[in-house]
Amino acid sequence: MLNEIFYAECLVCGCQINFRDILCNRCFNSFEQIVFRCNSCGYPLEVESKFCKNCLSQKYYEQMYIVYWYNSVMRNFMKYVKFHYGLKYKSVFEFLLSNVDIPGDYDYITPVPAHFTRKFRRIIQPAYLISKILSKKYGIKYKLLLKRVKNTKYQWRCKKHERIKNISGAFKAKANLKGLKILLVDDIMTTGATINECSKVLLKNGAKKVDVFCLTKGKPI
Ligand SMILES: [Zn+2]
Ligand SMILES: [Zn+2]
Repeated sequence: MLNEIFYAECLVCGCQINFRDILCNRCFNSFEQIVFRCNSCGYPLEVESKFCKNCLSQKYYEQMYIVYWYNSVMRNFMKYVKFHYGLKYKSVFEFLLSNVDIPGDYDYITPVPAHFTRKFRRIIQPAYLISKILSKKYGIKYKLLLKRVKNTKYQWRCKKHERIKNISGAFKAKANLKGLKILLVDDIMTTGATINECSKVLLKNGAKKVDVFCLTKGKPI
């Protein structure tokens, strides 16, 4: 009986923890920060390199900030977040974002808009929550600048060559963005096709510059 009062379960591995905590120490220490990045745009790399593959093809964002590899603890944590309501895990996001350093100055911070159907299933979208935490931390104004106009298939369900076609035309700008510097935010990056398409739409609607922030990205296979 007492145990139930003073102990809780780690959200990821289920082991016993202090009731105030959300994750156990082992899980906390398993988040894996990204070390090497493309010198030109910041795209995460496993080894040091001057350019990434995106810098050699057409990309619309300038700088990219991605902090963690999508390893097993991150996958389990994000899965938990996606299927549970409430803000219990907000402090884990705050912890994960506490050692983030974004040097640029921006007029607005804006999340990649969620799928229509997903909006109802999960009340809090990780990309929106991350945007709000960063907005507060850096004093950048938070605003929804994009809207989804086409419900696309989930990107991870598409074959690689289908992803660009799947996402093309999926977003529209909600306002004139003339001259604005924008930080675009997503939670998990798959191929970067979504981020690139959103950046393209922002630029086409007058934005001066788009940088990208993602919490996590899968390691290249
Ligand atoms: Zn744990
Ligand atoms: Zn690059």
